[in-house]
Amino acid sequence: MELAINGETKLAGLVGGDTITQSFSPMMHTASFKEVGVNAVYLSLPIEMDQLKEVVAGLKDIAVGYNVTMPFKTYICEYMDELSPAAKLMGAVNTVEIRDGKCIGHNTDGAGFVENIKNVGFDPKGKIATVIGAGGAGSAVFTQLALEQVEEIYVYNIKDSFWDSTEKRVAQLAEHTGVKVSLHDLNNRDELKESIFVSDLLVNATKVGSGELEGQSSIDEEMLHECLVVADTVYKPLETKLIKMAKDYGLVTAGGVGMLLQQAALAEKIWFGTDMPVAYIEKISSNNTCLGDQTLKRYSNSCGEEKCQK
Ligand code: NAD
Repeated sequence: MELAINGETKLAGLVGGDTITQSFSPMMHTASFKEVGVNAVYLSLPIEMDQLKEVVAGLKDIAVGYNVTMPFKTYICEYMDELSPAAKLMGAVNTVEIRDGKCIGHNTDGAGFVENIKNVGFDPKGKIATVIGAGGAGSAVFTQLALEQVEEIYVYNIKDSFWDSTEKRVAQLAEHTGVKVSLHDLNNRDELKESIFVSDLLVNATKVGSGELEGQSSIDEEMLHECLVVADTVYKPLETKLIKMAKDYGLVTAGGVGMLLQQAALAEKIWFGTDMPVAYIEKISSNNTCLGDQTLKRYSNSCGEEKCQK
């Protein structure tokens, strides 16, 4: 369908900081709206931190909803009229829905991540996970994994500004879900190795692997083992050092692009009630620009019911 702007055209978009120009979201949503026949535009809206409150108030009157990216996902929570249960637990919002004059903060990152690992055949229920990273993405990932009733989660982070809030979040999450969740220092490499050794799933949800940290990995190759599924939230580059290392080891992997597509599809469902044609968007995106070929190798639980002799 042709996308023609007229008096009925709705506004959606992405609110973010100075890295927003690198986002794939405007291209993905524009292609999807055109394909599905949603009469809306999706614009990139770069702002400064001191504009956030006013931008939220302004968009409330004119937009149908919008996404939120770095560095505003946590800060925007206080300006929402309501938070979804998942966004409340995560302390982060990546999708704002404007309904009946209210801003409702959702988080589709966690659910998008889980959808992505399910797409490679990995059901997290009852499994053990090591999640590296406790920022916006990491918090969404480990919270959603707990909501999916994994057995246990080891969260690792460096002792930066995320540490103190994560200590509280992890305790609340464990109490809320009954799942064992613990926080560890990423610099304790022996402990990290032990956690990965007993885990079924390893996730990188830090910035390591992208930007200035491209070509780096949070873990060493010797920490991998044959019963592990490895996921990354980083999607630029498409194949991080971690994903490449895991593929070379013969493991099933789930890269950040799959998560990106799934969280976008969930956002469109919230704003318009429509189903984003994920496979089509992935295909045209890889033809046009950026998403590459995401051929999937599926997890077939080759370890079976008996766990590997790790
Ligand atoms: P954030 O700023 O909220 O968190 C940054 C995380 O990286 C923190 O855990 C921090 O401790 C860690 N970190 C930073 N420098 C580090 C270093 N030198 N060593 C180890 N850890 C370090 O950012 P975010 O929103 O959580 O994003 C993290 C990554 O996930 C980014 O690459 C982002 O693009 C990606 N992401 C992908 C999706 C998706 O849909 N695929 C969604 C959200 C975020």
